[in-house]
Amino acid sequence: MAKILETGEIEFSKEDLKSAWLNSPILINKDANDFRMCFICKFFMNKNNFKVGELAWVCEFIDLKHFSLEETNLIAIHPECRELRHKDDCSKIVKKIKLTEWSAIE
Ligand SMILES: [Zn+2]
Repeated sequence: MAKILETGEIEFSKEDLKSAWLNSPILINKDANDFRMCFICKFFMNKNNFKVGELAWVCEFIDLKHFSLEETNLIAIHPECRELRHKDDCSKIVKKIKLTEWSAIE
């Protein structure tokens, strides 16, 4: 599980990152192991590019309002989309998005 460091930063474990990736929406025409969709901008992310590179992703919390470090509260998004989240509690939005079938347009 993630932990809060003395500096206030959050340290994610390998398992956390794995969960964040698995919790993010899949695309029906892309391999879910390699590509997932950022629920904020609806564009895809490349698993190989953690934090840096093209279509990079980072680990973010789904719900900041009822904050928890649980793996179920983690999701992968683009680093630049962090500032663009819809609201503090995105759990409903994420649920809704995952009910829809998404495909990537190249
Ligand atoms: Zn995005």
